[in-house]
Amino acid sequence: MSADRFPVVHLKLPAWVEAFVQAGPQRYRTAEDRMRLAIDLSHLSIERGGGPFGAAVFERSSGRLVAPGVNMVVKSRCSLLHAELVALAVAQKILGRYDLGGGAAAYELASSTEPCAMCMGAIPWSGIGSLLCGARGADAVRIGFDEGSKPAAWVRAFRSRGIKVRRDVCRAEARLVLREYKARGGVIYSRAV
Ligand SMILES: [Zn+2]
Repeated sequence: MSADRFPVVHLKLPAWVEAFVQAGPQRYRTAEDRMRLAIDLSHLSIERGGGPFGAAVFERSSGRLVAPGVNMVVKSRCSLLHAELVALAVAQKILGRYDLGGGAAAYELASSTEPCAMCMGAIPWSGIGSLLCGARGADAVRIGFDEGSKPAAWVRAFRSRGIKVRRDVCRAEARLVLREYKARGGVIYSRAV
């Protein structure tokens, strides 16, 4: 028997995320409720040494939480593990499909900061039907993150694909977490050094 040449790449949410959402409500009815969960996750993440971003996938009509996500780049040593992509990957695993579509914008992604260039590329392939954004990309740039090359007209491009977009949901609260991360001296890992 020969050993595999390459390792298994594992994606596992931190245990505290599981405990936190289990203590939360069954349903997140409004856009603000959904965003506050993403923001709470971003805040708890920085308190535990993680990146300052949170996200969550919800069943759009009922508000049932399908999957949370937090930024795990530094701890996992993996640049792919942005909060949005973690939430989408966990949701797809739970639902057993790579396409979260299926009509009527069935699933909604809430992201504490609007998606970077990488996540923006991944969202349409995920089949997500609706996107809520808290802080703006410019808010992340202001504390030193690089958002990548995003098309200026990305909101229109998403809408033309049938993805609903709502920005600035609880933006001030989301931005506070970014500022706190900066003030704590958090790692600005997307900067090329
Ligand atoms: Zn991203």
